[in-house]
Amino acid sequence: VSASGPAIGVDVGGTKIAALLVAPDGQVLASDVRPTPADDQSATMHDMVDAARAVASGDAVGVGIAAAGMVDLEGIMRYSPNLAWVDAPLAAFVGGALDLPAVADNDVNAAAWGEYRHGAGLGSTHLLMVSVGTGIGGGIVLDGRLYRGANGFAAEIGHTVVEPDGPLCGCGNTGCWEQVASGTALTRAGKQAAAADAGSVLAGLAAGDADAVTGAMVTEAARSGDGASLAILAGVGERLGVGIAGLVNVLDPDLVVVGGGVSEAGELLLAPVREAFRRSVEGDRRRPEVPIVQAVLGNDSAAIGAAALLFERLDGVSR
Ligand SMILES: [Zn+2]
Repeated sequence: VSASGPAIGVDVGGTKIAALLVAPDGQVLASDVRPTPADDQSATMHDMVDAARAVASGDAVGVGIAAAGMVDLEGIMRYSPNLAWVDAPLAAFVGGALDLPAVADNDVNAAAWGEYRHGAGLGSTHLLMVSVGTGIGGGIVLDGRLYRGANGFAAEIGHTVVEPDGPLCGCGNTGCWEQVASGTALTRAGKQAAAADAGSVLAGLAAGDADAVTGAMVTEAARSGDGASLAILAGVGERLGVGIAGLVNVLDPDLVVVGGGVSEAGELLLAPVREAFRRSVEGDRRRPEVPIVQAVLGNDSAAIGAAALLFERLDGVSR
């Protein structure tokens, strides 16, 4: 069965549920965004169905779901450090409610597939996606196929311990990569800088309340040329670049795509990422350049990718 109608892509995270109606060529035809009910698995599942219904068209061929956590090969969310969910049957529940074929995958796996098919990864064959937001998520395309591993849990790159005595992570470990190289690290360093200097640009942006500093404020201050904020972004970028070098040593991709909210800092983040990457990757001068580029699908990448995964399933390709 080759899909001709659109598919519904649903992206569920800790703060919002986004449903898009997506054409086979990746065009977004309709959208619905609503908040995620706090810590309520059952209510969230029902709201995912409601969001999907809000964008569904009569010729929709199926639904793809992208969720922030460990989603197994059957489309069941087994564990999420950021959602209080256990064993949520995403594909079966949402597909059953809509009476449509359904697939579910990790949100950054879906985002990687979205960028690979319709975004920054066009022309790539081996792609590493690094999504930098509150945490760090990964997605891997190898030989033109999304790599899921034995259980569907591959590319959980943010929870590699890089500082055994570092900050506590939502997964229970200390010093995970996402604790030192994500928006969480940006926010932590920004708060410290504002607390240390009440006359700083960051303290001013937070109206004198150092605890109110956000990662977005650090990026804003860096854009205006604030040296302290530029240094914070460069420090986070360096930790990102070193980690990406390790992943490139393992995977040998032809492209690295950096997405997520923190990537909106653009070159202020990516320039230090590339510098640390070149310094750290094995045999820098003996391998072809690995471009490290910004994602282009933005907040839509996971939902577009989830819809694209559904098309793949229907076409019998890449599963
Ligand atoms: Zn962790």
